[in-house]
Amino acid sequence: MATNEAGAAPESPVVSARSAVAENEAGAVPIVAVEALTKTFPPTTHALTDVSFEILLGQSVAIIGKSGSGKSTLLSILGLLETPTSGTYRFAGTDTQGLPSRRLTAFRRDSIGYIFQAYNLVEYLTVRENVLHALDIKGIRGEQAERIAEEKIARVGLEERRDAYPQTLSGGEQQRTAIARAIAGAPQLLLCNEPTGNLDERTAASILDLLLSMVSPTNAVVIVTHDSSVAAACQRRLVMSDGVLTEQISGSDSGIDDGTDEESA
Ligand code: ADP
Ligand code: MG
Repeated sequence: MATNEAGAAPESPVVSARSAVAENEAGAVPIVAVEALTKTFPPTTHALTDVSFEILLGQSVAIIGKSGSGKSTLLSILGLLETPTSGTYRFAGTDTQGLPSRRLTAFRRDSIGYIFQAYNLVEYLTVRENVLHALDIKGIRGEQAERIAEEKIARVGLEERRDAYPQTLSGGEQQRTAIARAIAGAPQLLLCNEPTGNLDERTAASILDLLLSMVSPTNAVVIVTHDSSVAAACQRRLVMSDGVLTEQISGSDSGIDDGTDEESA
């Protein structure tokens, strides 16, 4: 692995998280910084072992690896939905260990957006109402909420379907709704677990384009994926194997072995 010394192997496609930091805005606080993270499910499952990396604002990062390699566990920890067994997780510079649940809830609500393979929309609410509901949870209501909902629905290309219920939407439209909902509060970290796992190839490609178009200097997007074309489109790939982060690959890709299998986890 490359070191973080300035000028160390700058052209190398495989870099450590620290040199990725050096390549970006020096001194920027990473949105995600995990160090020596482990997660053990008793009695004997070591879902994560000594995982360390950083993610900066402005980055798109794919987490790849075989079924059971720890991807979902890692994403749950990044989303503050699970706590590690040991190691540290700094979110936007704040050590999350031992934070009162009120603070963790505030991070989850205000700073993190979640997108799942199964969309998880509220079935009895329309597209617009699903987005408004998410804003309501963040305390944003009334005209301001309506304005944001309109903007986000337009952003994902669903103006025509704004008053439709989820069961009348295609898979791609449901995922667009889920994306509009997830970005409604302008989260700094957008976490996606197999976001294209239920979609045909063409729809998956358009959802991927949409997700990557969300990346800006004020946020980062993390995508757990089995799909090597999704992984290849991200700026960085973290390769998981049996709970260990075996490789970090940066830059555009051509035919890497992403270590994934075909079957969806
Ligand atoms: P992936 O998403 O890469 O398929 P997971 O993170 O879901 O992998 O799982 C990693 C390992 O941890 C697997 O061996 C899985 O069986 C185990 N595991 C995940 N969640 C739990 C849990 N809640 N209780 C016990 N074992 C779990
Ligand atoms: Mg999984």
